[in-house]
Amino acid sequence: MKIRGFKHGGIDSMHRVSFEAKSIENAFLPLNALISLRNGPGLAEAEAVVKLGDQVLEGQLLARSTGANSSNMHSSIPGIVRRITQIKDAGSFDSLAIKISLDGSFSVLGKRPERYRWKALNKGDIGYLAQDKGVVRVSTGEPLYPALSKMSVKQEYTLILNVLELDPYSRVEESLFRLRTMDVLDGCAIAARISKPSRIIIAIDERYSAKTLSKIREAIDSCELDAKLQLFKHKIPQDHPRQLALALGINKDDIFIVEPSSLISLHEAIVSNKPHIEQYVFVGGGAIKHPAVLKARIGSPIGDLIEECGGFTSKPYTIVLNNPFTGRAAPDLDCAVGKTTRAILALTESEAKPAPERPCIRCSDCYEVCPAGLKPFLLHKLIQLGKIGEAKAIGLDRCISCGACAYICSSRIALVSIFDTAKKADKDRGQN
Ligand code: SF4
Ligand code: SF4
Repeated sequence: MKIRGFKHGGIDSMHRVSFEAKSIENAFLPLNALISLRNGPGLAEAEAVVKLGDQVLEGQLLARSTGANSSNMHSSIPGIVRRITQIKDAGSFDSLAIKISLDGSFSVLGKRPERYRWKALNKGDIGYLAQDKGVVRVSTGEPLYPALSKMSVKQEYTLILNVLELDPYSRVEESLFRLRTMDVLDGCAIAARISKPSRIIIAIDERYSAKTLSKIREAIDSCELDAKLQLFKHKIPQDHPRQLALALGINKDDIFIVEPSSLISLHEAIVSNKPHIEQYVFVGGGAIKHPAVLKARIGSPIGDLIEECGGFTSKPYTIVLNNPFTGRAAPDLDCAVGKTTRAILALTESEAKPAPERPCIRCSDCYEVCPAGLKPFLLHKLIQLGKIGEAKAIGLDRCISCGACAYICSSRIALVSIFDTAKKADKDRGQN
């Protein structure tokens, strides 16, 4: 099979920390769950439908979607509404959140999940269930059904099931695809029913063995999904939408990327009538004793999940959420798992490689790795001088925030965060 990849830039010689999940464990239930009503920056908040002191059931609606940019939010545990408060979400954006203290009996946990035959449902029924159960696209936090539904009006478009995880640590999508292949593929068939793609591609890392690929092919055949396996180069940031589109030679507006964890949530909502109250999270990094993929209740403090993995081997230098290149540092161990949390990485000092920032030496390594063909050192200089207009003229808006330049920079200049801040400030100025 031809291995596809983008041509310019990227980082391909990346060490990968060895990890293979044998199973996915249920995390302990949190005593308190802090459920954010906004799933990401730039998205809208759901509107609370409970008040202080209310007793809520597991899976009960806490907040209702206010449109295509917000999702219904449900209580991940049975309990009492203790606080409705403004928080700084772990993703570093402001949001209203509801704190539930565990109390009462479980209505979902321990019950054998029902299994309805979704093939008899029409698109409207599927859409109603997906929205009612608050299913989101885990990579962005936007509600999954409206985003998929928008694609169905296109004459031609490609649905990509993205199993690529290219940073050295994260393994949640790979693990889910390996351990729950049939549910992921069934979820993919549901997504295809909603959005009517002209083709479906399953994006796989070139490092998969022939034996694994043949098992995946068998699974695809057995569920009669008209999908094609495609190998992609193990090169950062190949899993970014722009780089996937480039490697396939199609316009990025004509692809829709969805990951296994989103499809599992969709599948559970449609087939088992289950709200999106759980999140699959990889807990790893050199400072974690026993790395694992856990199925955690939304709103669980990240400290609880770390404890469940045996705690720290040594004091971590930093704890990063989601991705070591583009993720955010966790503010503390009390910050809560949300619908877009997929990894908690506790990194040691030798992994984080802290070093003081030094002046740029114009080595142009950042240019060599930039997949957008930009000159990051020049963008940095212009931003330092406050010349945002000139930075935009040479492509600041084409920066996809992949973090490759910051990773490679021997002067340890925080290029990607400088670019993100400049882009945000420019956008805010434009809105005022
Ligand atoms: S990699 Fe760093 S030091 Fe080298 S040119 Fe780019 S910004 Fe300057
Ligand atoms: S973060 Fe932006 S400038 Fe840096 S390598 Fe990625 S696309 Fe290029």
